[in-house]
Amino acid sequence: MAAESTLLISELFYSIQGESTLAGAPCAFIRLAGCNLRCSYCDARYTYEEPGQSRTLAELTAFVAAYPAALIEITGGEPLLQDNIYPLMAALVTAGRTVLLETNGSLPLDRVAAGVMKIMDIKCPDSTMQDAMRWENLASLTSHDNLKFVISSRNDFSWATRQLRARLPGLGQDDNLPVVLFSPVLGKLAPALLADWILAEQLPVRLQLQLHKLLWPGSERGV
Ligand code: SF4
Repeated sequence: MAAESTLLISELFYSIQGESTLAGAPCAFIRLAGCNLRCSYCDARYTYEEPGQSRTLAELTAFVAAYPAALIEITGGEPLLQDNIYPLMAALVTAGRTVLLETNGSLPLDRVAAGVMKIMDIKCPDSTMQDAMRWENLASLTSHDNLKFVISSRNDFSWATRQLRARLPGLGQDDNLPVVLFSPVLGKLAPALLADWILAEQLPVRLQLQLHKLLWPGSERGV
């Protein structure tokens, strides 16, 4: 890893992992600046409306080294837009760290180092970004990974259910498939309503609440 290699960073922080099957665990977050999507409900606009700060890979490695027992999450914005993220993820996995990648579902996953846990979003129609989804990525996801549908409405739920039944028909029976999360957009869809719909359809998915937003309501950054 070249010492002068850099990444454009929106923020670095230590918090509780809130949006995956590892939710609840302490986690060092590296949030990269920049995003290629413009979701209607985006709660991280600062990642693309502000320029971000250049940090060397050595600085980022030193940041996560301060939290040796924590998970490491690479997020954004969209982290895969910056080439230097690939060697950083590979180096962290090689160092024995548990690395999570949160990605928006629009970019290829084939350069992501083996061993990185991928949390891939699927943006539903209310986001206005559903046509940007790269469905070929489903072939790269394993039982180690999460596929997260971000749901704002009944229309989104019906769309997500149709996509699941068409694209992952073995879900619930095939142990090699990713864990599927249905996550309600805070302020748009009541979690209890989404829970009722999941139960009524008998879907083999997990309801995922954004734990950090329940713990620290109103905090927009650093959680
Ligand atoms: S992918 Fe994430 S950061 Fe980008 S616009 Fe959508 S919600 Fe915002």
